[in-house]
Amino acid sequence: MDKNIDPRQQAVRDAVKEFAEKEIYPVSEQLDRMAEPRKFPMDLYRKLGEAGYIGYCMPKELGGLGKSHLEFITLIEELCYHDAGVGLLCAVGELATQPIINFASDELKKKYVPDCATGKRVPAFVLTEPNAGSDAANQSTEAVANGDHYVVNGEKIFIMHGDVADIGVLFCKVKDQPKLSTFIVETDQPGWQKRTLKNKMGMRAATTGGIILKDVKVPKENLLGEFGKGFRYAMGTLDSARIGVAAQGVGIAQRALDESVAYSKKRVAFGAPIAKLQAIQWMIADMATRLEAARCLTYKAVTMQDKGERISLVASMAKLYASEAAGFCVDRAMQIHAGYGFIGEFSVIEKLYRDQRVLEIYEGTSEVQRLVIAGNVIGR
Ligand SMILES: Cc1cc2nc3c(=O)[nH]c(=O)nc-3n(C[C@H](O)[C@H](O)[C@H](O)COP(=O)(O)OP(=O)(O)OC[C@H]3O[C@@H](n4cnc5c(N)ncnc54)[C@H](O)[C@@H]3O)c2cc1C
Repeated sequence: MDKNIDPRQQAVRDAVKEFAEKEIYPVSEQLDRMAEPRKFPMDLYRKLGEAGYIGYCMPKELGGLGKSHLEFITLIEELCYHDAGVGLLCAVGELATQPIINFASDELKKKYVPDCATGKRVPAFVLTEPNAGSDAANQSTEAVANGDHYVVNGEKIFIMHGDVADIGVLFCKVKDQPKLSTFIVETDQPGWQKRTLKNKMGMRAATTGGIILKDVKVPKENLLGEFGKGFRYAMGTLDSARIGVAAQGVGIAQRALDESVAYSKKRVAFGAPIAKLQAIQWMIADMATRLEAARCLTYKAVTMQDKGERISLVASMAKLYASEAAGFCVDRAMQIHAGYGFIGEFSVIEKLYRDQRVLEIYEGTSEVQRLVIAGNVIGR
């Protein structure tokens, strides 16, 4: 056991390792290389739910395990070490349920959270539109009041699990209102048209959808929280989720490092293992150092979250640093493995390389994180 690690984290690591050997490794390659059209791994999602991994830090009274955010972040890190796409399945289940837990009425929480926490129903966080990504407030999707419900029309894109979700936490405009609102939408209605997006570069175990909303009916009581606070709810949720992306980066970077150390000890060139070459040692030293810094910042952010402190700044720093550190590590891992890294038949490096890339894009690009950080440091 690592002496510097909280015993709760070690327990998470041991449990995930066992789960991964039984449930992840047998299907990992098949999930990554599945031919189009790709299928959401519902069996695995249900198993993750049954293990408590989706509702890990959700309240016990709502079907979760009530663990700390530190333990949840360790769970995501560890799942991503084994298969980042599988880690993402849990991270998305948590991300999409968070706005309901944090901002919805008790009635809506009781109605929707337990099934999301246990993996029985799949939720999606439905914010991004074809013309509103980083500029998320610039929404075109619009809800119009009509008697006891709203009628919603619009289009959403890049929605994790949006191709299979039973429940959409939908952010949109309301006619004649200046600010966004949030609704819980049950997707089993003809106007909610979903499809699986094709040819995704990485994180392939978790599918991503595009959604067209045509006269989708949402009961008025499904307004989540207060009218006009949708943008605030979205950003508040993303603050927390960004620490999750940082943890994904730490998991991927650790795997890239471990694979590189092992490979450099067994690959022989010019009569000796390449680990004896200073060129290789320096790459490994740089990887280990950036990984350690990423992990420290990620754990600092989540420890602040567990204490109830403001996390916006530190979450952006952790997401920015850990996702870019993971990019550095997978790139160096590729260099160390050379030809045997580039061709996925021989190692996982090619998959790590593809899985890492989106960490610098989703839940706010690296440029958006720098905007948040500069805004906090310099002042607006
Ligand atoms: C695999 C995947 C899963 C996703 N999952 C979800 C999900 O579950 N739910 C959801 O709602 N969304 C999801 N997204 C959407 C994701 O959050 C957006 O892709 C992201 O916010 C960037 O938006 P964009 O792709 O439209 O890029 P754009 O906003 O068009 O950005 C293009 C480029 O311009 C830069 N840029 C834009 N504005 C600024 C600025 N002000 N200053 C400096 N640079 C700027 C960006 O950094 C980027 O480099 C997902 C995306 C992917 C790829």
